[in-house]
Amino acid sequence: MECIFVFIFQFKELAQAYEVLSDPEQREIYDQYVEDALKEGMGGGGGMHDPFDIFQSFFGGNLFGGGSSRERMQRRGEDVIHSLKVSLEDLYSGTSKKLSLSRNVICSKCNGKGSKSGASTKCAGCQGTGMKFSIRHHGLSMIQQMQHPCNECKATGETINEKDSCPQCKGEKVIQEKKVLEVNVEKGVQNRQKITFPGEADEAPDTVTGDIVFVLQQKDHSKFKRKGDDLFYEHTLSLTEALCGFKFVLTHLDGRQLLIKSIQEK
Ligand SMILES: [Zn+2]
Ligand SMILES: [Zn+2]
Repeated sequence: MECIFVFIFQFKELAQAYEVLSDPEQREIYDQYVEDALKEGMGGGGGMHDPFDIFQSFFGGNLFGGGSSRERMQRRGEDVIHSLKVSLEDLYSGTSKKLSLSRNVICSKCNGKGSKSGASTKCAGCQGTGMKFSIRHHGLSMIQQMQHPCNECKATGETINEKDSCPQCKGEKVIQEKKVLEVNVEKGVQNRQKITFPGEADEAPDTVTGDIVFVLQQKDHSKFKRKGDDLFYEHTLSLTEALCGFKFVLTHLDGRQLLIKSIQEK
């Protein structure tokens, strides 16, 4: 019997699936899993298992956004990642930075419907699903169906009559809003630390809003170098200083003036 297996998932999951399928040990477990699932499905008189369920149980519940069936699948918006440059002083003493960002929010006038009457027509490009499909063949027995957002309706699955479009958002369902976020950089945090603002990314209808993530990026310091939790400071001595003793003042990252002197210096 030849079994044609159709599965749909997005790029992220595809990568995850690929990892499993390309690892021989994992692959064996997976093959056994699918075989068992198919046997079970055909023996019980209830027809074959939904291939989605097989994938979902195997790769974990979050494959389709947390639900256990396709009906409950809800799209999740993209996370927005910004890099935030900070000085070594900022990381040493902690700081807080206010950043103004513009984001899409659901139009308040039409509640994200895009039309005055609330009416919309099903998008012809995707039959209202918001997704378009393309098929890729893997050998003889496997067909992979890829999904991508419909460009004709911006993945909303519906189009709006021009005359009926909402005057505030012009049928776009969302409007741009400026928002100030205060990023608190805690004292002593590491370079590349992530600071997340959950659900603050672009809003879209029927979509779980993604996060805004700031990744701290430490600027080079002219005097100090950081290695883990230690600070290194390089100071050049003259030959006389090296032989007869020295002292100098070092300004620390928090502005303190520290007197550094050699043992022989009185
Ligand atoms: Zn469409
Ligand atoms: Zn509107």
